[in-house]
Amino acid sequence: MVVVGAGIAGVACAAELARAGVPVRVRERARVSGGRLASKRFDGRPADLGAAYFTVDDPDFAAVADRWRAAGLAREWTDTLVAYGPGGRERVSGPMRWAAPRGLRSLVEHLAADLPVTHERLVTRVEPGPRVDGVEAEAVVLAMPGPQAAPLLDPALADATRAVAAQRWSSALTGVLRYPARRWADFHGAFVNDHPVLSLVCDDGDRRGDAAPVLVAHTTAGFAAGHLRQPAAAGPAIEQAVRDLLGLPEPAASTHVHRWTYATPAAQSGSATYHLDDDGIGLAGDAFGRPRAQTAWRSGRDLGRALAARLG
Ligand SMILES: Cc1cc2nc3c(=O)[nH]c(=O)nc-3n(C[C@H](O)[C@H](O)[C@H](O)COP(=O)(O)OP(=O)(O)OC[C@H]3O[C@@H](n4cnc5c(N)ncnc54)[C@H](O)[C@@H]3O)c2cc1C
Repeated sequence: MVVVGAGIAGVACAAELARAGVPVRVRERARVSGGRLASKRFDGRPADLGAAYFTVDDPDFAAVADRWRAAGLAREWTDTLVAYGPGGRERVSGPMRWAAPRGLRSLVEHLAADLPVTHERLVTRVEPGPRVDGVEAEAVVLAMPGPQAAPLLDPALADATRAVAAQRWSSALTGVLRYPARRWADFHGAFVNDHPVLSLVCDDGDRRGDAAPVLVAHTTAGFAAGHLRQPAAAGPAIEQAVRDLLGLPEPAASTHVHRWTYATPAAQSGSATYHLDDDGIGLAGDAFGRPRAQTAWRSGRDLGRALAARLG
């Protein structure tokens, strides 16, 4: 049994299979696990490049979050953010947002701790059998955005090919802005509506709990689409937009831009939390529901259960 992708969906799937006693191997093209729960270190301090936080309304995922909290990896951050829009700035209450002091990637690494994950292992071909890069497997799970799964799939795997082709994805850029000092009033995080560049700005020192002078900004899909070839060139525009939005007195000391070609799926109709077909191909991820970490986890967990039942 092979799971391709060590994001939260793939790891949740593999963990469920392992719990059921099904031998499973995980293949991940990156040097680390986590996928879009991505944290990068800047001078030793992690900043979150992908998901900004996670929310919990599924009782089973709540139990996972509690285990992360007990391990000192996750904490409740805030249920109150601000929103900028045509009418100005206002406070908005919502669900509790959870953050990870060591970065959200640490949560996936915790889930994957006992799993055989091979990193820097790019999978290039999934063929009928099913076979993964020429090697037979009982079943194959592709736990990644549909456009990343599509080129791997032999067209003879018609059901899975159709399922990934039905997904629609949009892009985003993330700017990590590091300042000499914290020169902004407390705001936790800000949704930015109807803005040409920004969609969300979070105070990374606040969510991480170390008060570091770091802001992380996510761009709109439209802005990202114009900068996918040279994301670093978008840095000055992102930095200026954040400075204007928050009225900052000085520019960032450094700006790092990360490109997410496939950041967010459009919600699909239907209630399936995963795809599993008679060819032995499974698909899991946040395309099967609202584009959230919880959705990806539940998708992987549910697919793992279904596969464990099928494989006996
Ligand atoms: C900018 C941004 C902001 C977000 N904000 C939030 C938020 O605030 N709250 C929230 O809950 N969610 C948020 N999300 C969504 C959240 O990050 C995702 O829902 C979740 O991380 C998806 O996990 P996944 O396992 O389905 O996919 P991914 O995390 O994308 O994992 C797929 C994995 O497959 C690997 N892979 C791909 N192709 C191959 C291959 N050929 N061979 C081997 N490995 C391969 C990739 O390297 C990756 O590790 C955000 C996402 C982005 C990008």
